[in-house]
Amino acid sequence: MDIVCLDLEGVLVPEIWVNFAELTGIEALRATTREVPDYDELMRFRLGILDQHKLGIHDIQEVIAGLRPLDGAPEFLSWLRENYQVVILSDTFYEFAKPLMAQLDWPTLFCHKLELEENGRISNYRLRLQDHKRRAVEAFKQLNFRTVAAGDSYNDTAMLGEADTGILFSPPQNVIDEFPQFQVTRTYDELRSAIQAATAA
Ligand SMILES: [Mg+2]
Repeated sequence: MDIVCLDLEGVLVPEIWVNFAELTGIEALRATTREVPDYDELMRFRLGILDQHKLGIHDIQEVIAGLRPLDGAPEFLSWLRENYQVVILSDTFYEFAKPLMAQLDWPTLFCHKLELEENGRISNYRLRLQDHKRRAVEAFKQLNFRTVAAGDSYNDTAMLGEADTGILFSPPQNVIDEFPQFQVTRTYDELRSAIQAATAA
């Protein structure tokens, strides 16, 4: 029995914060886990910037509603769900992801939650569980699944290491250099082949 765990941003959809930075012109919001490996540090920084600019959840949701999944992502995910159990493990928040999940036909998503004030200000964020990507894979293994995980950045590497097979998808060069143990794929065709090879036996 196989289960495939996929990262969301950079694998199926574009980076939400990068797109938000582009629309608002706030360069500082371009930083992602690719540049800042410490997720808590990154989120505190982002929330501080949003406060400075008096931007709330509605401003962000407006941007996200205009985003589309990456080219070929819906077809790839549809094929994957037909052939495997699939869970998306992301460090985004349900409030951000919803418009994109609708376009991906509502796959199962494990992520985090925002704390909102009545006026839409994001007062805080709540991680459902520390290290949740890796711990989800660990739990699936205990449930007797063979696990394949794919992601593109630092916050995926623990999950990739925990999985029976970990695959990088379209990663930046610094992640490739630091984690040479993981196979690198750059297209959905390559990722499909890597998953098929990992689950062939
Ligand atoms: Mg990612």
